[in-house]
Amino acid sequence: MNIETKNQININDSKVAILGLGKSGEGAARLANYLGANVIVSDNNTNDQIKNISKDLELIGIEVELGQHTKKILNADLWIISPGISQEEQIFHKAKSNGIPIISEIEFASWYTTNPIISVTGSNGKTTTVNLIFQMCNFKPMNPILVGNIGTSFSSVILDDLKNKPNNRLYILEVSSFQMEAIVHFKPYISLLLNITPDHLDRYPSMTEYAHAKLNMIKNQTDKDHIVYNIDDEILKKRIDGNQSNSQGFSIAENDQTIFYIKNSKICKNNSELICIEELNLPGKHNLANSLAAATVASLMGARDTQISKVLKTFTGVEHRLEFVSSVSGVSYYNDSKATNLESVKVAINSFENKIYLILGGKDKGGDFEELIPLLKEKVKNVIIFGEATEKISLALRDAVRLKQVKNLKDAVEFCHLEATPGDTVLLSPGCASFDQFANYEERGQIFKEFVNNIATA
Ligand code: ADP
Repeated sequence: MNIETKNQININDSKVAILGLGKSGEGAARLANYLGANVIVSDNNTNDQIKNISKDLELIGIEVELGQHTKKILNADLWIISPGISQEEQIFHKAKSNGIPIISEIEFASWYTTNPIISVTGSNGKTTTVNLIFQMCNFKPMNPILVGNIGTSFSSVILDDLKNKPNNRLYILEVSSFQMEAIVHFKPYISLLLNITPDHLDRYPSMTEYAHAKLNMIKNQTDKDHIVYNIDDEILKKRIDGNQSNSQGFSIAENDQTIFYIKNSKICKNNSELICIEELNLPGKHNLANSLAAATVASLMGARDTQISKVLKTFTGVEHRLEFVSSVSGVSYYNDSKATNLESVKVAINSFENKIYLILGGKDKGGDFEELIPLLKEKVKNVIIFGEATEKISLALRDAVRLKQVKNLKDAVEFCHLEATPGDTVLLSPGCASFDQFANYEERGQIFKEFVNNIATA
């Protein structure tokens, strides 16, 4: 299939193979089916959740193969791949040599809308920031909707909109680097690049490739679009041309090139003060960065300053991100289960003044734990480690800090309950993925909160 000219693409009656049956795979399958394609979905897994989704898809005439990718998918005109799939697999080479175009689900969905897209990427802070943008842009006639990584896939929202034809629509997309790997025409009205720090080095050979995948997001943007980026981020500062007419920086330092700027601990714009930093509801400098990023984007979309300040004062954050759980015998417990890389562990530690009991561990994502040592020495009383990465973490930290190895999260919470004294903070900010002992980070955070509530009521 020739997909070079976006307006001429027609998938009616063509054969579309979808690799991966997660939320985005399911969304893409339903959208392609609605548009008249003959769809086959192929997934290596065979778990119950996937089996249930495949039954639903088969009911509407979509073919599903589970357990392995067979040669059938090589007989397709187009491949749509889910973010979890690595293009290193052998079958990809065959597809490429057969000339089958391979695109991401976000690329596919974007073919079927001309409405504006705000696309947000970065190593950390995406979910927090898209939620801030959503609230700031929730005024008439915007009709914003949150899509992407969390919750609903872009394809399924596009499918609903094709059916229901809303008068206006603003798509606010949270995008991971994986979704940016197979982009052809995808063109956001505003790209927001929050930060690029080491993450997913288990999947990318180097930081250069990782940064490259993220920057794919801006490759089709023109003068009429906007690139909003973090000037304080070394990599972004190097990679984005700040003098380009469509680029707009944000910064938590005093800076005269930004729309919003910090002066005397206040957020200001056009020589007037909007709000004191102290009034922000979210803790930590990283959240100040997220707030300024969201404010810049919202302002470019025409949001009023009063609306922006109101959201900054009232936004209470997103579950599992530095979420306050409870105070038990004078000890505060925080759930930061979403901190799956070391940069977010650092910002979490820096968000507290108190002596911290830090719970680290899970499935390693390739970070260098030694990097944490200076900060741990300064602010952390005890590091409690659990899960698959235990050995790696203990080797990296050695005797630089007080370390306690435990079997699981329950033992970690119980240890902290016994040892911590009033005024201390217990922080689950694991710096690892959750998949060794939990279904996902949400389950890990939920279970942590249950353990904390159990000791609170014991
Ligand atoms: P993402 O969607 O990119 O994973 P989240 O908003 O879900 O980002 O936050 C994930 C983790 O990163 C949380 O632990 C949060 O406290 C931390 N975090 C949020 N914003 C930033 C930032 N700008 N820089 C570093 N860490 C951040």
